[in-house]
Amino acid sequence: MHTPVTDFLEQVRLSCADSDEGELAHYIPQLAEADPAPFGAALCMLDGTVYGVGDAEHRFTIQSISKPFVYALALADRGLDEVLEHVGVEPSGDAFSEISLEPNGRPRNPMINIGAITTHALAGARDAGGDESTARVIEGLSAFAGRALEVDEVVYESERSTADRNMALAYLVRAQGKLQDEPRLAVDGYSRQCSVLVDVRDLAVMAMTLAAGGRNPLTGERVVPRWVCRQVLSVMATCGMYDAAGDWMSTVGIPAKSGVSGGIIGALPGQVGIGTFSPRLDRSGNSVRGVRMCEQLSAEMGLHLMETPEVASHVVHGVIQPEAGHGSHEVQLQGVMHFAAAEAALRALARLPDDGAPVVLELSRVPSANDIGRRMLREGMRRMGADGRAVSVVDPDGVLEG
Ligand code: GLN
Repeated sequence: MHTPVTDFLEQVRLSCADSDEGELAHYIPQLAEADPAPFGAALCMLDGTVYGVGDAEHRFTIQSISKPFVYALALADRGLDEVLEHVGVEPSGDAFSEISLEPNGRPRNPMINIGAITTHALAGARDAGGDESTARVIEGLSAFAGRALEVDEVVYESERSTADRNMALAYLVRAQGKLQDEPRLAVDGYSRQCSVLVDVRDLAVMAMTLAAGGRNPLTGERVVPRWVCRQVLSVMATCGMYDAAGDWMSTVGIPAKSGVSGGIIGALPGQVGIGTFSPRLDRSGNSVRGVRMCEQLSAEMGLHLMETPEVASHVVHGVIQPEAGHGSHEVQLQGVMHFAAAEAALRALARLPDDGAPVVLELSRVPSANDIGRRMLREGMRRMGADGRAVSVVDPDGVLEG
């Protein structure tokens, strides 16, 4: 059998291919000359499987899609507190090139240019700067993609030589004491970061690395710690699509980031990484076809983050009662044990009749538990033991030990 996933993805792509709306970005000369035709999309799954359709091998410059990844590197290198001293986490409601500073002088968030230039200078060790930060950034972006990425020198030159606005932003942040590097070096490095070449497959893998908690699904490398991904995905959800971020979150519901050359990534925690590319942009600077594709993928594949999951109602698979005075109560649980699931399981334990019969907690249908789920089940067992009941557990996968 051929898996239908590729066909499904291609159907969605084709249904969005009829639109020629939108404009190429004009303010970077080299991007204004790009071919508007290529249109590709890719999905990457947790085990590293990548589905690509359309122009999936067409390379383009990553542009602002680099921002969440460089934010991740800065967080991993400097820690949350130091990064928060320099860049905030509030949606700006402004265009990506706006002067969006908080009253204390911090750029509002790392997804707009003023914040991203500041973040670039925070990647790498504290005494790094200039070329060293940039080398760290290129090496880090490559680790997210699972291959050595290269810079498009022509786009870089084009961008660097027309970077007056970004220079102005960098000088402003420097004047506020929030930019750790010389403005010229920070903007050069940031332009280089934006000129890294990728295709939609790379984007899907990079997005999945964030969605998987920082481990690259292709190479198995731990690129950044798990807490970093939670921070980055949160900021993508609120600020990733610039002044269309609220609209995006309510319709698509996937943490995302767009770039001015026409790429978009979506990272749905624990499930899928999405990459799309089509160069024509809407007024917010987001790819027209890419936005439509993401809307459709989210609706048809049920990917909205806020879609209420059915969890706690099916936690107890069954309860076997003791037979006429001997045997035990066997409480069979199922599904992943997080807070809400463990709460339901504890209630089932608390409901058992007070007949002194032993209790068996049967976990063979529980694939995993998070920290809190584990702690809650253990505490339930401890309390039953303290009440004088014999408690045992059948845990073939060692879920409670993890
Ligand atoms: N390199 C671009 C710039 O700084 C990135 C902007 C974007 O992709 N939105 O203007």
